[in-house]
Formats: sequence, structure tokens, C-alpha cells
Amino acid sequence: MRAPDTTVEPTVADVVAILDRRYPPSWAESWDRVGLVLGEPEAPVRRVLCVVDCVPETVAQAREVGADLIVAHHPLLLRGVSSVAPTTYKGRIVHQLIKADIALFVAHTNADVANPGVSDALAARLGLRDLRPLRPVEGDAAGRGTGRIGRLPEPMTLAELTHHAAVTLPTTAWGVRAAGRPDRTISTVAVCGGAGDPFLPDATAAGVDAYLTADLRHHPVSEHIAGGGPALLDAAHWATERPWLDDLAAHLRAACGVEAVVSDLDTDPWTVHDSLKEPRP
Ligand SMILES: [Zn+2]
Repeated sequence: MRAPDTTVEPTVADVVAILDRRYPPSWAESWDRVGLVLGEPEAPVRRVLCVVDCVPETVAQAREVGADLIVAHHPLLLRGVSSVAPTTYKGRIVHQLIKADIALFVAHTNADVANPGVSDALAARLGLRDLRPLRPVEGDAAGRGTGRIGRLPEPMTLAELTHHAAVTLPTTAWGVRAAGRPDRTISTVAVCGGAGDPFLPDATAAGVDAYLTADLRHHPVSEHIAGGGPALLDAAHWATERPWLDDLAAHLRAACGVEAVVSDLDTDPWTVHDSLKEPRP
């Protein structure tokens, strides 16, 4: 790998090497699929678009901003495929990227466990302090692990924290909903970007007052609250991972000397949310 040199444009391979050093592919879960998805390694990279999801809307945005590379959080191709025919949803995306000469790279669960990783950026948005992993990587001295636990600068009620999260996280139709007594006092908070229900027992074991993540479901939440666990906040999946893109872009600018653009295109699938019963703090 060349040393970063602002007079020489980095190649796709250079950017991949820098991202692999910050988010080694070996840190990804065994079911995950991370790394370079498509793109010529020798192609020059002037501009990178950072996105949570590689979907037709963000591919169009990459073309608009003149990006040579998309760095996405979610894998485009997670399960085995036998065709990338343009008549399929994902095959169309592959064709559009190759035709537009845009490379695609994915950092997913390897970016989740990194330090700093996806949940550090989420915790920072909420103003949490003194961060430590929610589920640490066993035997790791570098502070790696999934999710983060931190302390609010000042205690607040669950209703106030829900409002605080709705205001500080990227805006979505989904917003933020919470489970637990609205007047419960919250000082310590666990967070996990993305679908964090596998870590409900970790949040309970850690003894935090609240746990914010995404994609929570009726029965696990009911049983968790009935069992005396922390209050739960359910934010939009995209909104919990979007804050990390700023950290990613800053690293790309500093380490590769490329222009890094962050996509604020809301790729959460929920587009309408209505409630006739809106408690206000
Ligand atoms: Zn996710």
C-alpha cells in the first residue's frame, strides 16, 4: 500500500487497504459478507459516498455527486446469488454501478465491533460519556465489542430521553418509541446501532437504566419489561447507523485524502407514522 499522498490519487485498492486496517474483515461475523463487492482495484478514487444502504436511490446520489466509490454499511449481496441479471432488483444495482464505474465496498459487523465503531457514533449523538462495550469482544484490550454503555450528562426521565433521542438522531418517519414507565429516571444508557434485540440480556446484566436500539418486537419487549429489565427505546434502523457515516467520512478524508460525502438520504423503509396518542415530556 502506498503512503497517503495528496498529490497522487489513491486507487480503490488503496482505500480498501485503509478501510481493512480500521475494520479488519476478520472481525466480521461468520455469516456476514464484507469487503470489496465490485470495482477495479486500480481505478482512481477522488470522491467517496458513505451510505448505510446501497439502494437505487443512493446509487443515483453517487452518480449525481460524481463518486468513484460507495462505502456502505449493509451488504448488497449477503446470501448466495446465481444471477446478477438486470431484471432483478440487486442485479440492476450491480449493472448501474459497473456502468457508472462506481466501486462498492462494505464494512458491516466488522465496523460494529470496532473501537471507534458504529455504536460509538450513536452514543456520541446522544451525548453519552465514559463509553464501554455492551458486549465486549472476549479477551480484547482495545475496547472492541458490540454496542456501547454510557452515562447521560444529567439524569432525565424516560419521556425526556425519548424526546432527546428523537431530536438528536437523524430525522425519520419512524421517530423513537419507548417501553417502560415514562417517568422512570434514566442515568445510564446502552445503545446498539441496528437490530440490537440479541443484546437485551446484556443490557439487563449491565444494570443500565435504558437501552436504545432498532427493530424491537412485541413479545421480546413485553417479556423484557415484565422481567424488570431496562427501559427500551426503539429508533429507526437507519437513524441508529447514520451517525457512524460522519466518523467514516472523517477517517477517509484524513487517511486517504479523498473527498468523502455523507448521504443523508433516509433509506429506512418506513415512510409514514401517525399517532393520536403522543405523550410529551
Ligand atoms: Zn444495520
